[in-house]
Amino acid sequence: MERRANFIGGSFCEPLGGQYMEKRDPATGQSFALVPASDEQDIAAAVEAARQAFPQWAALPSEERARLLLRLADIVEQHLEELALAESRDTGKPLWLARQLDIPRAVRNFRFFATGLLHLSSEAYRGDGDIFSYTLRQPLGVVGCISPWNLPLYLLTWKVAPALAAGNCVVAKPSELTPTTAQMLAQLACQAGLPAGVLNVVHGDGPRAGAALVAHPEVRALSFTGGTRTGAEIARIAAPMFKKLTLELGGKNPFILFADCHFERAVAEALRAAFSNQGQICLCGSRILVHRPLYERFRQEFVARVRALRVGDPLEPTTQQGALISEAHLQKVLAYIELAQQEGGRILCGGERLRLEGRCRNGYFVAPTVIEGLAPECRVNQEEIFGPVVTLIPFDTEEEAIAYANSVPYGLAASIWTENLARAHRVAEALQAGVVWVNCWMVRDLRTPFGGVKQSGLGREGGWEAFHFFTEPKSVTLALWRD
Ligand code: NDP
Repeated sequence: MERRANFIGGSFCEPLGGQYMEKRDPATGQSFALVPASDEQDIAAAVEAARQAFPQWAALPSEERARLLLRLADIVEQHLEELALAESRDTGKPLWLARQLDIPRAVRNFRFFATGLLHLSSEAYRGDGDIFSYTLRQPLGVVGCISPWNLPLYLLTWKVAPALAAGNCVVAKPSELTPTTAQMLAQLACQAGLPAGVLNVVHGDGPRAGAALVAHPEVRALSFTGGTRTGAEIARIAAPMFKKLTLELGGKNPFILFADCHFERAVAEALRAAFSNQGQICLCGSRILVHRPLYERFRQEFVARVRALRVGDPLEPTTQQGALISEAHLQKVLAYIELAQQEGGRILCGGERLRLEGRCRNGYFVAPTVIEGLAPECRVNQEEIFGPVVTLIPFDTEEEAIAYANSVPYGLAASIWTENLARAHRVAEALQAGVVWVNCWMVRDLRTPFGGVKQSGLGREGGWEAFHFFTEPKSVTLALWRD
């Protein structure tokens, strides 16, 4: 068995309570590693290490902080292959996807915020009379970064990079299901020369290690990505302590095709939006709303392409769909497929667990599934499934499409497909979502604010929003007296 370790104050260490959890490979179902089941004591040690490192890290000239983070980006890039392999083994995602998406994005996250740091500025106001005001943006101190299992290094670094760039010290708590690349990042951070205590990684489950990080009084801010219920629990504890919070939560995103869309591109992207990472991306387009004149044609073409998707061993280069993260998650996804049938849905393809041959025979694979005939308000169309399951919903008018799109408790992302410019703008404005794509999906300019509305979250990440979150503004006003 491999063993993962916490990284506290610049050293790898065992959990103080000596407890471990098993980590399984989703593609094979086999345990292969032990992960620290850390508790309050480990969190306290990590927060203390971060607290001690903070004054020096915050005082470092920004060019020096930027140089260290750029060096870390280079080192992560040099280790792309090992990191991608580890990410694929921890998550069950195709290796090529980890190579093309997850790890390159982690590199980009560090480069983006390291260089952004060099362009930070703040406002200054020459007021009426003899008044001059300006704003200082100071780092917060120790911040907590809690990330999920679906895009482990990608999302962890999306938080860690701006937090460090802004001058904070971090205690990171990755998902217990995907500990490996966080541990490798800690190693690489040492290699890059990050001072001890600036970045700390504590493994453990959410209710124990995660909750201890949330409740620690020295942790000034929490950046969380995960499920909506967990987000609510974190807010319940953190809000009365007046901690800064960003919550990036679930989604039930509409992918809306109007009859005048570019059909070929729309079908190809609908497929990608529905099934990338086995549908386990918060931005996935899990409800495909199709203008009725296009419905039959779209359904035929889409289902044919879904049937042709190759589900297989994540290590095979021809595999398009890998494994789901865990047996428990697989059972949740299958339960939603069952529920869809009870709610009157028709399964057009998929709908079952797949048993592969060879080393993956005990892996957590589900056939990509398309369902039609469900009312927009039924549970399957309202609740986040977070798996390779999409529903098709026909609509007749623009107003109806908007009403269906907005009818869910979530409001993370939406994708609109039309060649009509005025309609694209109108619909984008009317949708209740933090992110809207027109004629594309999951295209990210890291400068734009990222986050959701309604039960998809609170606050924004990305660009200056992230620097603003990880700093506290202080207004200084001077009276310019004349003698
Ligand atoms: P969870 O909410 O279960 O977990 C997310 C993280 O929070 C994990 O590290 C988890 O630890 C930890 N955690 C769990 N309970 C607590 C707690 N009480 N206090 C503190 N931390 C806790 O989500 P999943 O990992 O299952 O991820 C899937 C969810 O994430 C989906 O709902 C998805 O939509 C959402 N997501 C949102 C994104 C966005 O940007 N809006 C992007 C990606 C995913 P552990 O797993 O070790 O128990």
